[in-house]
Amino acid sequence: MRLKRRGLRCTAGRVRLLTLLSASERHLSPAEACEELARSGHAVNTTTVYRALDALTAVGLIHAVHGPGPARYGITGEPHHHTVCRECGSVAGLSSRHLTEAVGRIQELRGLRPNPDGVLLIYGRCTHCST
Ligand SMILES: [Zn+2]
Ligand SMILES: [Zn+2]
Repeated sequence: MRLKRRGLRCTAGRVRLLTLLSASERHLSPAEACEELARSGHAVNTTTVYRALDALTAVGLIHAVHGPGPARYGITGEPHHHTVCRECGSVAGLSSRHLTEAVGRIQELRGLRPNPDGVLLIYGRCTHCST
């Protein structure tokens, strides 16, 4: 179990959060995570969700992306970059393999060797906010 290996107690709440973030295409704010958990029939306490997100971030199982509004959390797994909507703050993952060329070019131009785990933040307006 991933949680135990990282020295975290394996509470039902943490496991549910990890499952939720793994299943979601989007990266979720704490409030969105609470909503989703409630929708799936698990009454949740906001404070508990905040604490669980902090604990999971601290051990690197999930990561936070800071755009406009509250931080959004996503699962740490396959390397990915992020798109960030400037209007609503929604964050989505974008697989690194789609942007290998762009990242290589950045290295050429600036000599900066990007981290292997997805480093680009691409700002714009999401489809929802563009309509
Ligand atoms: Zn992410
Ligand atoms: Zn948006």
